[in-house]
Amino acid sequence: MANTLSVDVAVLGAGPGGYTAAFRAADLGLSVCLIERQQLLGGVCLNVGCIPSKTLLHAASIIEEAREIKDFGITFAEPQVDLAALRAKKESVIGQLTKGLDGLCTARGVTRLTGNGHFVDSSSLSVVSGEDETTVSFGQAIIATGSQPVRLPFAPDDPRIWDSTAALALDAVPNRLLIIGGGIIGLEMAQIYHALGTEITIIEMLDQLIPPADKDLVQPLFLKLKKRYRIHTKTSVTAIEANKGEISVRWNGEDEKEQSTACDAVLVAVGRRPNSGDLGLEQIGVTLSERGFITVNEQMQTSVPTIYAIGDVVGEPMLAHKATHQAKVAAEVIAGRNVAFSPLTIPSVAYTSPEVAWMGVTEKQAKEEGLDYDKGKFSWGASGRALSAGAATGASKVLFETGGGRIIGAGICGANAGELIHEAVLALEMGADAEDISKTVHAHPTLAETFAFAAEMVDGSITDAL
Ligand code: FAD
Repeated sequence: MANTLSVDVAVLGAGPGGYTAAFRAADLGLSVCLIERQQLLGGVCLNVGCIPSKTLLHAASIIEEAREIKDFGITFAEPQVDLAALRAKKESVIGQLTKGLDGLCTARGVTRLTGNGHFVDSSSLSVVSGEDETTVSFGQAIIATGSQPVRLPFAPDDPRIWDSTAALALDAVPNRLLIIGGGIIGLEMAQIYHALGTEITIIEMLDQLIPPADKDLVQPLFLKLKKRYRIHTKTSVTAIEANKGEISVRWNGEDEKEQSTACDAVLVAVGRRPNSGDLGLEQIGVTLSERGFITVNEQMQTSVPTIYAIGDVVGEPMLAHKATHQAKVAAEVIAGRNVAFSPLTIPSVAYTSPEVAWMGVTEKQAKEEGLDYDKGKFSWGASGRALSAGAATGASKVLFETGGGRIIGAGICGANAGELIHEAVLALEMGADAEDISKTVHAHPTLAETFAFAAEMVDGSITDAL
């Protein structure tokens, strides 16, 4: 059946970027249609990303804490994991959130279209679902089609070779899981499966885990994980053979000698690529980067004036909070507001145990760019709160412009680092210096104090952190 629809704004993709843009545009009085090829709204983040991973990580951290509390003289029996119930809990969290989005769509009068969308020209889209085709004419369109996992060309097509979506499905708990990629997604999945009893091997091509973060910041995490997992850095996987009984993964380490590891499942977590093919973009003149990301300006406008793009499909960092902020800018620009997407920083968080969070300039970037900076670093081993909570594995680090200047970057490794980093983000946005931070009274004993202590370290005056 052929249908037609005419709206002010057509949003393609209903992840955090797409649904936020649709809601904001509707709130600003525009008629909006939200196009999504999946039945459920929410995109990667709600369905197969942020939310299921954090739900499972919560369960994993309870198991881990129950084991670690033996240092305090308390022991629990080994946990009994009901995999079906854990899966059901994850699905119910997703269901609650996606149902909430359905309600918000209806309340705002946003028209939903389920189907695969592609551009016909710079003012219309075709949305196909089975035999049905809807032509949507729009004043402006916002592309929010997100990203998908990168596949390794030599990885065989086998159900035991997973991407993050397959890993989060939690269909089974393998005895041995080999993870290719020591970035955030790889490490979060390692933590989930390790807590469930899986033996973990991690292979990372670069010389550290979580490569975008500073190596010294990741070190407390690395030292902890090294006791639990086999970790090979500076190592490349060269072949994967999915045999009947087990999978054999061949790799080259630092010594250049080829070795192999046997495992029961492999998780490929080597990055994500934009969903920008098959949208008809080249034909209508939307410019893409070499890696396929859509090129946009600060108003989130592409090279075609009626078409905007936001979220993972426009490039790094591929994070949900970047997508939602860009979404609001795109919708507001379309509604005639004079706004731009120009945050001073976008924080990144690895929800590992301990967590690693960073924002602004990293120390390695500062060195590469030849920036002069002052540094304060405070080890959590000297924090009363961290020690009393059994969370002394960690450090807070902060960088300032040389000579009492403003904060330029910060990183925290430790419990709740993902929450604590926002003090640094606000400090950066507000142009705070080391004195502003160290003389802001922080409650004692808190983990947040460690950030103020790090700022105080810059002039070397701190002596009695505990
Ligand atoms: P997406 O969420 O990818 O949504 C795009 C939507 O567009 C999808 O629903 C897709 O089906 C639809 N679509 C694509 N093409 C078409 C088409 N032609 N027609 C119709 N529909 C289409 N980020 C964080 O900030 N914090 C985290 O903790 C975090 N954890 C993550 C964990 C994992 C395992 C993964 C994989 C990612 C995680 N991310 C996290 C990243 C986060 O999920 C993404 O940055 C975010 O979802 C991007 O939002 P988006 O709106 O750009 O795109």
